[in-house]
Amino acid sequence: MHMKRTKFKTGILAVVFCSLTFLFSGDGNSIYADEILTDTELPVGRFSFEEKTEEADDEDYESVEEDDAAEQSLFRMTGISADDWEKYGSDYFYEQLSDEEKKYWDDLDAICAKYLTTETDAVTTNTGTYRMKAISGSTLEKEKQKKVLRMFRYSKPQYYFLNATIYTITYSNKKVSMIFGIYPAFGKGADRMEETEKVKAQVDTWQKQIDECSTEDEKVQTIHDLIIQKVEYNHDLVNSDFATENTEYSQSVYSVLCTNKTVCAGYAQTFEMMCNGTGIDTVAVTSFDHEWNKIKLENNWYNVDCTWDDNGSDNVGYTYFLRNDDYYDTSSSYSKNHHAEESYWEGYLPATEIDSVGSPWISVNENASGSKIGMSCYNEEAEIYYTTDKSNPVTSGTRMLYQSDFLWNSSEYPVIKAVAMEDGKHNSAVVTKCLHNYNASILADAACEKAGTREYTCTICGNSYMEEIPATGHTVVIDPEVAAACETAGITEGSHCRVCGKVLVEQTVIPATGHTPVTDDAVAAACETTGLTEGSHCSVCEKVLTEQTVIPAAGHVTVTDAAVEAACETTGLTEGNHCSVCGKVLTAQNVIPATGHQWNEYKESGKIKRKCSVCGKTETVGTYLDVKKIQLSKTTYAYDGKAHMPTIKVTNTAGKKLKKGTDYKVKKPSGRKNAGIYTVTIVMKGKYSGKYQKTFQIVPKGTVISGVKAKKKAFTVSWNKQTNQTSGYQIQYALDAKFKKSVVTKSINNTKKTKLDVSKLKSKKKYYIRIRSYKTVKVNGKSQKVYSDWSKTKAVTTKK
Ligand SMILES: [Zn+2]
Ligand SMILES: [Zn+2]
Ligand SMILES: [Zn+2]
Ligand SMILES: [Zn+2]
Ligand SMILES: [Zn+2]
Repeated sequence: MHMKRTKFKTGILAVVFCSLTFLFSGDGNSIYADEILTDTELPVGRFSFEEKTEEADDEDYESVEEDDAAEQSLFRMTGISADDWEKYGSDYFYEQLSDEEKKYWDDLDAICAKYLTTETDAVTTNTGTYRMKAISGSTLEKEKQKKVLRMFRYSKPQYYFLNATIYTITYSNKKVSMIFGIYPAFGKGADRMEETEKVKAQVDTWQKQIDECSTEDEKVQTIHDLIIQKVEYNHDLVNSDFATENTEYSQSVYSVLCTNKTVCAGYAQTFEMMCNGTGIDTVAVTSFDHEWNKIKLENNWYNVDCTWDDNGSDNVGYTYFLRNDDYYDTSSSYSKNHHAEESYWEGYLPATEIDSVGSPWISVNENASGSKIGMSCYNEEAEIYYTTDKSNPVTSGTRMLYQSDFLWNSSEYPVIKAVAMEDGKHNSAVVTKCLHNYNASILADAACEKAGTREYTCTICGNSYMEEIPATGHTVVIDPEVAAACETAGITEGSHCRVCGKVLVEQTVIPATGHTPVTDDAVAAACETTGLTEGSHCSVCEKVLTEQTVIPAAGHVTVTDAAVEAACETTGLTEGNHCSVCGKVLTAQNVIPATGHQWNEYKESGKIKRKCSVCGKTETVGTYLDVKKIQLSKTTYAYDGKAHMPTIKVTNTAGKKLKKGTDYKVKKPSGRKNAGIYTVTIVMKGKYSGKYQKTFQIVPKGTVISGVKAKKKAFTVSWNKQTNQTSGYQIQYALDAKFKKSVVTKSINNTKKTKLDVSKLKSKKKYYIRIRSYKTVKVNGKSQKVYSDWSKTKAVTTKK
């Protein structure tokens, strides 16, 4: 933080100042303590040149003489010409150089002017740094080049982009060209252009303030004060051994004009630049580690060390302002040591014969009667003049000679200015005591990371100083984490500044997690319902990874259900069908009613039965009355020449005799007189049905045995002749009367024969003999015999 009012930079410095107060003034007035030089530790910090070497092609250099004008015209130029810049440099050393040295100087000046006024890009070295383009090898030996180069560097503060690196370019022809390095920020021509304009703008602002001063003394003091009030010494940079030099620009006026921190080089070169710009010859010179100025006023040269006059408070010091070498060498050994010019300056430096009077101190002592002003100066011979009307006390007019303390009527004259004068010495700087009424104005707003600047200007004396407004810091806004999803990457939590948008914690990508696949089982298709193929989806985001496709319904597998024929008693079925897979009935089978039996009724054994012509089933359905027995009253008649007809008795199954004419009728056969077989037909009627046939016969009239005559082992039988309705005879004999044993039957088909011999019989055996007649009749075309009854038996015993 830059706040010069309260600065009092370090404890060490404060103590040192105090000790010197005693040394030079013998006056313990502590008010002067911060304006006293120190014997040790005053900041130095010139950055010794860093030397680098490069080799280059013979043609790799800037041919200043030939190409400069033409080439410059190709680049955009600032509105500030090289001539405008020239006044800020010093020719003091140049004028003392040889022609050969001047030539090298001129070449350096030409190329530097080109970088100052055009967009020419710097050369990027093989180590990534920037440098000027080389210039054609000088005929000067290297050490002489180096001397000229350094003198040039300290005489040309306007070339703000040069850093403290020297490149020694060696060509194959052994020529050497030494040139300067360029701060990285100023390597690109276009960027440098903008910075150049900033530099010039600050110079011009200051120049206006300087131009308001009426005397050279006043101008020089103003330049001295402006620089000291603007910047503070960059201790951090020096303590870090210039670690951040590339962005602090401490060896350049840029650090003073465009930043608020610098080291001795910045103070000295800016002082040089502003003084020369104001028309006051000024140079910058160096010791082994320090840089300060020599300035020419009224034909005398003086030393000015702005660095050492910046004591850190808003009271600018003047201890090292416009002093001769003798003072620098005798004020302290530290001063002598750090102001011992480097050897290459030898013979070129101006003598500083006349010294200045040390500036007076104005003290304010509070006592009962009010604020009392006291003034003193360590040059006891000097006289102190002062004014109370803000005018400069260097010229006569309103100034008064200080003789003794006086009351400060600060309401009447809030500003007191004092100068110390002594014959043979240059006037001291004019010191001012003011009540100071500072008004603040913001020159640059603070930003999140960048400090701003507030300027305090005293409305009474015009003194001003600047204060750094601390960077506000970022207004942190959390950029929430976005979780990664299956397919989309997420981001980690981060943060940014709501005000400037700067990303504070970068959000990094969280890779997409990828899906977590889950199998969606296949669903088999059924007959009527569709199925699905196996698929998959993500269990986290539900996204379908493998789509399930529809498997069409399989359709039924039709199987015929055969028709079943209906039967008499059982039902049937029509043909149908069903699915063998799911069992679903596709065509229903309809029941065919049982057909019922095809009954044929009949009668049997008194029962009414019926039989199915289809299935053969029989059953009894009832009973009925039928004919049981038909009897003829006589079935055999012996022929007698009369017609015969038996009576008929019909009995039903209930044992009741049926009535002829109601229940039946009889068809009589014809004839019925001759021997034969006759058929009677009984036709049932009424409640009865059916037709029956019964036969009876008329047999011939029998005959009788008329005689038997025994014979030896034979016999002879004779019978009565019988011819009516007779065809023959049949004789039977046997050994028993019942005709069971050894029965022999003999037929005689001649009715006229009436005797039969039977021989070859056994002897002495009794044979029983009988006879009957017969007639051969035709019944239904067939010959049949009808027999009469057997005759009475006759016995005969054969003979021996
Ligand atoms: Zn003031
Ligand atoms: Zn911010
Ligand atoms: Zn997923
Ligand atoms: Zn099915
Ligand atoms: Zn049946």
